[in-house]
Amino acid sequence: MKFVGAHISASGGVENAPVNAHLIGAKAFAFFTKNQRQWFAAPYTQQNIDLFKSRCEEYGYSPDHILPHDSYLINLGHPEEEGLNKSRSAFFDEMKRCEQLGLNRLNFHPGSHLNQLSVDDCLDRIAESINLSLERTNGVTAVIENTAGQGTNLGHTFEQIAHIIDKVEDKSRVGACLDTAHTLASGYEIRTRDGFENTFRQFEEIIGFSYLKGMHVNDSKKELASRVDRHDSLGKGLMNMEVFSLIMNDNRFDNIPLILETPDETLWAEEIEQLYSLITHH
Ligand SMILES: [Zn+2]
Ligand SMILES: [Zn+2]
Repeated sequence: MKFVGAHISASGGVENAPVNAHLIGAKAFAFFTKNQRQWFAAPYTQQNIDLFKSRCEEYGYSPDHILPHDSYLINLGHPEEEGLNKSRSAFFDEMKRCEQLGLNRLNFHPGSHLNQLSVDDCLDRIAESINLSLERTNGVTAVIENTAGQGTNLGHTFEQIAHIIDKVEDKSRVGACLDTAHTLASGYEIRTRDGFENTFRQFEEIIGFSYLKGMHVNDSKKELASRVDRHDSLGKGLMNMEVFSLIMNDNRFDNIPLILETPDETLWAEEIEQLYSLITHH
């Protein structure tokens, strides 16, 4: 079964997230565990937590279909001690928040070397950051998102993600999330049936579908291998609907959150319906 939703707003309290997801007919959702552009946020209250849990139950959202996203400020591969420590404690705080909400995964961008570390050293550092958080939390999987490879951001090849996973001690609590826009922009042609099959054959060989804990389903304003991260609404960018149809009809993408991060939120309800309408076999 497919679980499609969107990255919805949790403003006014995390307990609003399942309500906002329900309002657009989502069967899955993503949200920021706290304001994504600030380092500090007040802890959740018991009331936030209780309401979040009861509303998820009321609207039928299982933790397996909820994919929280961490703050954009965090860089788990930061070359400098101060930035690294700040990032590690903020990441730990986000993992804890997921744990408090009874969730089982946290999606994040691996990190950037800022031209001060080699790629391999930065990937090792990211893995070490993940290990430190996993040691102090329970039940939450660290889900590494592939990136477009903009600037010095790592995670734009399957090999880089595999490198990080390889150095994470607890393999049962590390995973990957593929963003279709980032996949295209980082250089993987997924818009044709052959390209799609080839890309996911590589994904299986290099990372493995057992690690796939979610997908971000976005069109892209930027071309293949542009290394620029600009999402577009489905069918409006340089992708075509074929790639989304291939995803919706492929059981390797069953039972994981399939999350829209498209720019026009007024279209989300329609985009969710559109994705379900692409399913040809039942
Ligand atoms: Zn992301
Ligand atoms: Zn994404």
